[in-house]
Amino acid sequence: MALIIEEVKEQGFEKILVAKDSSSGLSAIIAIHNTHLGPACGGIRMLPYASQQEAMTDVLRLAKGMSYKSALAGINFGGGKSVIIGNPDQKSKKLFHSFGEFVEKFEGKYIAAKDMNIESVDLGLVKEKTRHVLGVEGEVGTSGDPSPVTALGVFRALEATAESLTGSKNIKGLKVAVQGIGHVGYALAALITEAGGEVWVTDTNVKIVEKAKAELKVKFVELENIYDLDCDVFSPCARGAILNSVTIPRLKCKAIVGAANNQLATSEDGIRLHERGILYAPDYAINSGGIINIFIEYQGYDRTKALKKTEAIYLTMKEVFQRSKATHKPTFEVADLLAEERLYGKK
Ligand code: NAD
Repeated sequence: MALIIEEVKEQGFEKILVAKDSSSGLSAIIAIHNTHLGPACGGIRMLPYASQQEAMTDVLRLAKGMSYKSALAGINFGGGKSVIIGNPDQKSKKLFHSFGEFVEKFEGKYIAAKDMNIESVDLGLVKEKTRHVLGVEGEVGTSGDPSPVTALGVFRALEATAESLTGSKNIKGLKVAVQGIGHVGYALAALITEAGGEVWVTDTNVKIVEKAKAELKVKFVELENIYDLDCDVFSPCARGAILNSVTIPRLKCKAIVGAANNQLATSEDGIRLHERGILYAPDYAINSGGIINIFIEYQGYDRTKALKKTEAIYLTMKEVFQRSKATHKPTFEVADLLAEERLYGKK
């Protein structure tokens, strides 16, 4: 049986296709939000969604998010995303080949990359059926692990935040609490300690905490206590929705600067932070190092170029903070406006 493809219309989105293939077991959605700046690039996420509707809601939100992230990062990628509905333990060569054929239907308007539950080996299988794939780690000319680049971008955002708080971008003596020291958080903690910052960490993985204590001389805080820690900056680098009506009243930090995606549970929480006077560096504005790295791969990979482009996150954040101060608008609203100016032009 071949792929059965159905188009779904949704206002504000350029193209949404749903694919099913009973012979491979594929059930997937690819959504393109906007290709005004360039081809839509975004990762493939594989999750056992409870329904197609749940998968659709996720892919639409993520595709739009990618348009905004790339626009704000100043790269010529549009926004798109794909989801494969299924349990990661049902992965097979047939499934990813079938998915590759699905990607090919977009004729390069959608470029696939890695996201949740997708490994390089899976992406390699997709690439056997379409050339519109980026970020297959280990292949010659690819951009490799994006995490150190993402960490650098978050670090530059931290400098812009320090400058907004104290007038100096020097982070020596700044007390930063990092939630999650995985790929990005660990590299970020290393950059902060090297620059003379005082780092507190927490992680569900005890081994990684021991490693960080030994190698980076960071201090440990219990998982739940991180929200109550008296610190300058809280840096969420684990999971989303951790800034919510329960955690925000507990925070004692002056600013939030972290890599995790979708940190605000709702936009009311962005307003809540603003009202509490906590400076929030919007996640998608500062964790774009990974997509910048992929964009440079698209052009012909050059590490120096990728790092240089990522450094510009510092300037973007300075602009976000300045505009937020001048207009009294929450930073997440200002970041959205800046992204929309690049996507659709100034209104
Ligand atoms: P990762 O899986 O390598 O690291 C996450 C770490 O958080 C792990 O060490 C895990 O044990 C820990 N963790 C999980 N739940 C926790 C909890 N409740 N409290 C404390 N620690 C917890 O992931 P990563 O690649 O470092 O990415 C971190 C975040 O940044 C994710 O939200 C990811 O979507 C986002 N992000 C990553 C990149 C990238 O380049 N890797 C780019 C953009 C955004």
